[in-house]
Amino acid sequence: MTVRVRIAPSPTGDPHVGTAYMALFNMAFARHHGGKFILRIEDTDRKRSRPEYEQSIFDSLRWCGIQWDEGPDVGGAYGPYRQSERTEIYQQYCQQLLDQGKAYKCFATAEELQEMREIATAQGERSGYDRRYRNLSEAEVQQRIGAGQTYTVRLKVPLTGECVYQDAIKGRIAVPWADVDDQVLLKSDGFPTYHLANVIDDYTMKITHVIRGDEWMSSTPKHVYLYEAFGWEPPIFMHMPLLLGPDGKKLSKRKNPTSMFYYRDAGYLPEAFLNFLSLMGYSMPGDREIYPLSDLVQEFDVSRVGVSGAVFDLKKLDWLNQQYIINSVPVDQLWSRIEQWAFEPTRLQKLMPLVHTRIKHFGEFFDLCDFFFIGDLNYPPDLFHIHGLKEGQGALLLQVVIWLLDAAEDWGSASLHHVSKEVAKLFGVNHKKVVMPLLFAAIMGKRFGPPLFDSVEILGKFMARARFLKAIEAQGGLSKRKSDHLKAAFEAGDCSSCLAEQESGERKSEDKNTADSLSSS
Ligand code: GLU
Repeated sequence: MTVRVRIAPSPTGDPHVGTAYMALFNMAFARHHGGKFILRIEDTDRKRSRPEYEQSIFDSLRWCGIQWDEGPDVGGAYGPYRQSERTEIYQQYCQQLLDQGKAYKCFATAEELQEMREIATAQGERSGYDRRYRNLSEAEVQQRIGAGQTYTVRLKVPLTGECVYQDAIKGRIAVPWADVDDQVLLKSDGFPTYHLANVIDDYTMKITHVIRGDEWMSSTPKHVYLYEAFGWEPPIFMHMPLLLGPDGKKLSKRKNPTSMFYYRDAGYLPEAFLNFLSLMGYSMPGDREIYPLSDLVQEFDVSRVGVSGAVFDLKKLDWLNQQYIINSVPVDQLWSRIEQWAFEPTRLQKLMPLVHTRIKHFGEFFDLCDFFFIGDLNYPPDLFHIHGLKEGQGALLLQVVIWLLDAAEDWGSASLHHVSKEVAKLFGVNHKKVVMPLLFAAIMGKRFGPPLFDSVEILGKFMARARFLKAIEAQGGLSKRKSDHLKAAFEAGDCSSCLAEQESGERKSEDKNTADSLSSS
């Protein structure tokens, strides 16, 4: 048997570190066994998938040294490797399940589904589809189709017993079928869901081992049943531990830089970054921490993969990166590496118009522009004491800046200009006197500098986003509760109440402190 493994990212956002993590372990596993590593693009979400996101998956993986043997951009014998080009294949296989009575047409409308959810919630039951169209007669199905009703195709999941499979990392897994929904396989527009496309592709691409993050474990019973329904041998499942942030919670874009491009732009060495990823959920014999990819490939052993979460600790990455600088960048090459990273000529040319009329002598260039060349800014303690904002309130404004820019999918100069004015309006604060100094502080670590909006465009989305996150933390951070509350106000189009609330919250804690100190005196 030739080992064939794959990653199957969806091109719906910035290239996530989790994609590189999975790619690394799939690639190491394939190379270790002399097999093939495939990259398949799962773009069944037609609304959110974008060609530019697909390109950034390729670019970011190549940046850190990951190579695939088959994929949309390199070809291969089992293509096409982009799901949007395989719709007919899914429809044919789905018809086979319908013909065999293993799937059925479901006519539930959005309102019906909503009603089912509400009833289930009111009764304290697992919210899900109540299978009301599972046993329609063929005549009734035809009559509804004749009347122009649209339908999805659902899988007839067993009603009793359990789904049992052996996970090569987690061991025996058993899930009662009663906990598994009749999964939609084909949407009403004829496009497949992730579950159908994923299983058909893994089968037709002859995938032998499915190595993926354990957040997909809840989908695996549906997949196991699909293999059974088609009469196919399932692959071996290996669910890798989830990446966790330093707080022990799932690594999230809300708090941590999760885009691969941040690590590139912040000046990490790709080889160190790859080594860092290989420490996630894996331990080499003798607890070695610094080793080249070739060692991981040669010594790869599934039994050394951990069962629980892997902490994505940036302090560890910094330490490791420094070891790589010391040991694998000879001193006579150091300048050229830094130069390539920081002094890329086209980027610097863009910077010159911002600097031209602002320096009295060249010596002031770095004073003005230092923040372009600093990976991780340190904010002076009183930097965020901005007139018009109480302590911690800047965090609320910056969070909304991030939401608006993310929603616009445009971190360019004009977009930021627009967003900054919008934020002033949403919070009812002065744009020039409050929002601008806050943005300067977050991006530059100081209150003055070259024009802000153009600077952010040159600095790039990934660095800018990470700085906003860091500036939020520097102002005390945002708890989940506060952030949810802010989101609701933001969606309602008025965030000013959040500022007032934060103030009264502060006053309460001040009052409490005073009361405490009075009672103890
Ligand atoms: N499309 C899924 C993703 O975005 C693939 C999950 C899997 O590997 O099955 O990660």
